[in-house]
Amino acid sequence: MAITERAVMEALATVQDPELHEDLVTLGMVEKVEIEGDRVAVTVQLTTPACPMKAQIEGDVRAALARVPGVEGVDLTFGAQVRPSPTGNLPGVKHVVAVGSGKGGVGKSTIAANLAASLALDGADVGLLDADIYGPSQAKMYAVEGRRLMADDEKRILPLKSHGVKIVSVANLVEDGQALTWRGPILHGTLTQLLQQTVWGDLDYLIVDLPPGTGDVQLSLAQLVTLSGMVLVTTPQDVALLDVRRAATMARKTHVPLLGVIENMSYYALPDGTKDFLFGEGGARTFAEAEGLPLLGEIPITRALRESGDAGVPLVVADPENASAGALRVAARRMAGQVSIQALNTLPVV
Ligand code: ADP
Repeated sequence: MAITERAVMEALATVQDPELHEDLVTLGMVEKVEIEGDRVAVTVQLTTPACPMKAQIEGDVRAALARVPGVEGVDLTFGAQVRPSPTGNLPGVKHVVAVGSGKGGVGKSTIAANLAASLALDGADVGLLDADIYGPSQAKMYAVEGRRLMADDEKRILPLKSHGVKIVSVANLVEDGQALTWRGPILHGTLTQLLQQTVWGDLDYLIVDLPPGTGDVQLSLAQLVTLSGMVLVTTPQDVALLDVRRAATMARKTHVPLLGVIENMSYYALPDGTKDFLFGEGGARTFAEAEGLPLLGEIPITRALRESGDAGVPLVVADPENASAGALRVAARRMAGQVSIQALNTLPVV
């Protein structure tokens, strides 16, 4: 029996994207269908190269095609096309994603560095803006410390490039400590420059490392660009959770969608295989559930994660087999999935 394109499309229309809750045909993810004898070649465009659901989608597509009468073989190709935020307003940048925390020292910058590197490893075009102006650490974490930012002919900032990520940090702009007194208009002006007068080029994701807390930078950022969302980083302990709740409240008040929570320093793996929950157990999960947010990851404490930050190579690049690196890769993909969900559910500005 001859296979028809219609039969193939009908089969693909039974496959749901598990996160977007629509079928692949309705979502426009089926790019190409070719039939040759009893073989079908299908190309599916995912909404992010860091798709957390790829394995499930692949299994479901293969199962659906196997049910089409006459199909003996399937050639399945996956591509990815990140769909821009319908409300995005930074030219060339599809999504601006902020990484925030309530307290300092919970590992927000470490997480932001690894989220950016992980998305780049998955094939996305990624930028990283270190807007933690009172304690910028991305220049160190990306080994571009001490390098001055250069400008093009139009006096636009040229980002540095490290580990596949375009990076701009306040630390590359001014002397250490100089930003500590910035408030109000100077702060706003500098953020405007870093965001809007930087040659970011085409980016799928611009990750913004915020200062901890709920201060001027958060407000300015929300005024300057439409964020696709914000990721909250916390440790499991009560004092951190108290503060991250405030960060969540501020995000909501400034209409920034919350993409989810990443718990850092969740536990320390002991040599006998048990876990020491140094800062308490399950705190972020309880918080995420109470707030109705996804828990994107639980990142263990490892010596390698601390060392990689100091050495200027994000752990997901330096040691992919490390337990913290694995958890960070998963968290980055879940975050990318949440960005896709937001993009689909956001109505364009008319
Ligand atoms: P924040 O940005 O929240 O102030 P940092 O990312 O600068 O925090 O992290 C503070 C310190 O803790 C750094 O030295 C970092 O290397 C270390 N660190 C963060 N997360 C972990 C972890 N899961 N395991 C080990 N060290 C960590």
